[in-house]
Amino acid sequence: MDPALIDDCVHCGFCLPTCPTYVLWGEEMDSPRGRIWLMRGTVDGTLELDRTVAEHFDRCLGCMACLTSCPSGVKYDRLIELAREKVEETIKRPLMERILRLFVFAIFPHPKRLKAALKFTWLPAPGPFKPLRALAPDYTATAPPPLETPAQGEKLARVGLLTGCVQSVIFGETNRASTRVLSAYGYEVTTAYSGCCGALALHAGKREEGLHLAKEVEAAFKAAGADRIVTNAAGCGSHLKDAHLDLPVLDISEAVAQGRKPELHPLPVRVSFQESCHLGHAQRVRSEPRELLRSIPELDLVEPIEQELCCGSAGIYNLVQPEAARTLGDRKAERVLATNPDVLSTANPGCMLQVTAALKRAGRPLPGAHPVELLDLSIRGAQLGDPAPE
Ligand code: SF4
Ligand code: SF4
Repeated sequence: MDPALIDDCVHCGFCLPTCPTYVLWGEEMDSPRGRIWLMRGTVDGTLELDRTVAEHFDRCLGCMACLTSCPSGVKYDRLIELAREKVEETIKRPLMERILRLFVFAIFPHPKRLKAALKFTWLPAPGPFKPLRALAPDYTATAPPPLETPAQGEKLARVGLLTGCVQSVIFGETNRASTRVLSAYGYEVTTAYSGCCGALALHAGKREEGLHLAKEVEAAFKAAGADRIVTNAAGCGSHLKDAHLDLPVLDISEAVAQGRKPELHPLPVRVSFQESCHLGHAQRVRSEPRELLRSIPELDLVEPIEQELCCGSAGIYNLVQPEAARTLGDRKAERVLATNPDVLSTANPGCMLQVTAALKRAGRPLPGAHPVELLDLSIRGAQLGDPAPE
């Protein structure tokens, strides 16, 4: 861990009220300041990195709310990444936890395996595998988006759309809508790379693996002639932006903001928009998704309170820290329902799974749609629930 990064923290505590784990438990060691203090101890040698210390790092969601609230510009994102690497090197986790993590990394980043696994969600799940079953969505296979989609009108740029791993399997329609929207906004689209970008690995302390996959994404899109990469999953976008690739990386809402607006038709729905942490806190992309939604005629945009507080999804957090994740998910569902929406919108597949599962638990399920899917409906003059084009 880098002592200079640790020294940036002046212990002011401004980050505490925005940290979900501090909000849940009120424990200093489960706050950003407390975790930085633990990091300092392990660097100084005054503290051993044992299971107890590792547990405080494990409980961090990596939501980056503390990046937003810290007035001293502490690079907590880098600090927790380094701490996680150290934990992975040093700590031997309990056997069942190791099996769960192995299973998750053997399945989730591989779309074919994930598709196969989703067919068995009816099976009883033992102990630590229960959260996997609880979060598994009703799965319907969708066709992948086309490999090539021409721009409508004069071409502004050629973009590589990252279709992702979880996104491509569970939210395939989001990818198909994304290619239609990008095309309508003047972009030629290639989906030459399919699979994981490495964000899941990075979240779990496997930095080298995460960066290697990010480079593979870039190589595939460069080979396909793309001049920028577009993502529609906030966690993937945040990871690719942090990987410092040569190709520029844009969230799809940023690409839309820079594109050529087509004719939009009314979509009279009340949309509760939940900003995902990796879009707001990590990428600092806040105005673009809201502008995108506001541009849709007759759409009523509402926002739940506590936007800054994570829903508990956070990469694989809801699988490895299920109790805290469930509490945060239920809290988020309550806040979303208080806005009395027709539909939940969020720009990250993990948040969508987490909050829609919590809404079901609350007995008030809602349809979920990525902002770009709502924009696609508006471009096509379709309404929520209408079938998607073939
Ligand atoms: S990343 Fe989120 S959970 Fe972790 S310390 Fe910062 S605010 Fe708290
Ligand atoms: S991380 Fe930033 S906000 Fe939190 S205690 Fe340190 S300096 Fe203050």
